[in-house]
Amino acid sequence: MTAVAVIGAGASGTLLAARLLRHPSADGLRLFLVERRPGAGRGVAYSTRSPGHLLNVPALNMSAFPEDPGHFVRWLRSGPMPGARPETFAPRRLYGAYLEEVLEEAALSSGATLEYVRGEAVGIEAGGDGVFRVRLAGGRGLAAGRVALALGNFPPRSLPLGSPSFMRGPRHVPDAWAPGALDRVPEEAPVLLVGTSLTAIDVAIALQERGHAGPVYAVSRRGLVPNPYRPDVISPPYPRFVSPGDPEAARISCLFRRVREEAARAGGRGRDWHGVVEALRPEVQGLWASLPEAERRRFLRHVQPYWEVHRHRVAPEVGERVRAMREEGRLVVMAGRVRCCREAGRGVEVEISLRGGGARSLRVGCVVNCTAPETDLRRVRHPLVRSLLSEGLARPGPLGLGLDTGEEGELIDARGEASGRLYAIGPLRKGRLWETIAIPEIREQAARLAAVLLGGGAAGPSARLLPDLRRGGG
Ligand SMILES: Cc1cc2nc3c(=O)[nH]c(=O)nc-3n(C[C@H](O)[C@H](O)[C@H](O)COP(=O)(O)OP(=O)(O)OC[C@H]3O[C@@H](n4cnc5c(N)ncnc54)[C@H](O)[C@@H]3O)c2cc1C
Repeated sequence: MTAVAVIGAGASGTLLAARLLRHPSADGLRLFLVERRPGAGRGVAYSTRSPGHLLNVPALNMSAFPEDPGHFVRWLRSGPMPGARPETFAPRRLYGAYLEEVLEEAALSSGATLEYVRGEAVGIEAGGDGVFRVRLAGGRGLAAGRVALALGNFPPRSLPLGSPSFMRGPRHVPDAWAPGALDRVPEEAPVLLVGTSLTAIDVAIALQERGHAGPVYAVSRRGLVPNPYRPDVISPPYPRFVSPGDPEAARISCLFRRVREEAARAGGRGRDWHGVVEALRPEVQGLWASLPEAERRRFLRHVQPYWEVHRHRVAPEVGERVRAMREEGRLVVMAGRVRCCREAGRGVEVEISLRGGGARSLRVGCVVNCTAPETDLRRVRHPLVRSLLSEGLARPGPLGLGLDTGEEGELIDARGEASGRLYAIGPLRKGRLWETIAIPEIREQAARLAAVLLGGGAAGPSARLLPDLRRGGG
């Protein structure tokens, strides 16, 4: 029997597992799906219970199967949202349930066997027999011929906001997505969110739903907040206006001049910048690959924040809610930098240097780190990532983003050699692809990777669950 282990059952791991199970060559496959949290399909994004946390992609583009774009819309209509339309922005918690069902259905009709393994993978060792031994926390383990890493998004980098005791204390929330993180936020006191992007908006909405009295302050260097989609979400495709081979695609300044010109020109076509961003999106992976490294760095330093608020838009309903919260003074967005946070009695005193001059002092009950997930995996505490890097089975991706991977997600090891048996999917591939974190890209990767993992026929020698590796049983 052949065996594949998928580590991580967020959206990426679940979509990959479903693809493997549905593959025509899946008969006889033994598929391990390893996840440290309960359930499958949720991960960070879709485990929220908040009804106000909506998908930031319309339902038509969230199907698990790009070849069947209506699949998610039909699923919504057949149960939880009878009135769903292609342009609906569904609650994210429903999407987690959808993915779980996609997986269950795939397992039922497959000639392969799916085994959920609840636990954290902490190490992978390549045996001389062509089998990987995946070590799990607590000493268990499993063996598989091929392994796919779907480790997803990592907690944000720790910000130097105050003294070590403040940083470790109850008035600082280092990761807004950690289970129960917002339970620490006092209901009656103002709160400061560090970050003004998607996570900050999610937290502001979650706090409002919990009856937080506010106000919620949010600060980031530029104070940029994601734009909402236009109400006519699904519009005819905008013509392609730039591609990776174009001369201006070699320099980030030329590229973005071209984008701005196109946005100005879009009015003449009865469109606006939304269409331009949509047209650019399928080109992003190619453009990123063709940019010299220095130009990619320039993008990260100067352009990324502006790109993010146009590319990662929020549902019109969310945009409206944010607008109302700001108008009512419940949400106050500032451009600036937190200079320091000091615990004082039952609160925190915060000093902020405002962009453009001046300062602002606040007294809040709690400070929440809402900055982006950490992408430099040399800095994360994740035991499996540390083990892969230290064992030389993986190396950091270009610009230190994610892990280095080849065309189909094969890991590149410390010597620069592509693995034929160890792969990555989803946000881990950011360094090579940049545009790799959302479902429209992940589902394509899942389809291709499933074919690669099974395409060669055998996915490795015999599979077996190993006895306790600490006892040397493997
Ligand atoms: C708040 C938020 C909202 C988003 N909304 C959208 C949206 O509306 N539309 C869209 O297209 N994209 C959205 N995204 C982008 C998102 O990255 C992808 O849609 C997708 O959820 C990524 O899934 P993932 O499985 O790669 O990562 P994750 O969701 O991070 O899942 C990774 C999983 O791996 C598990 N894991 C990690 N390490 C181990 C280990 N060593 N052993 C066992 N298990 C492990 C984790 O517990 C986790 O369940 C959103 C992202 C976030 C953070």
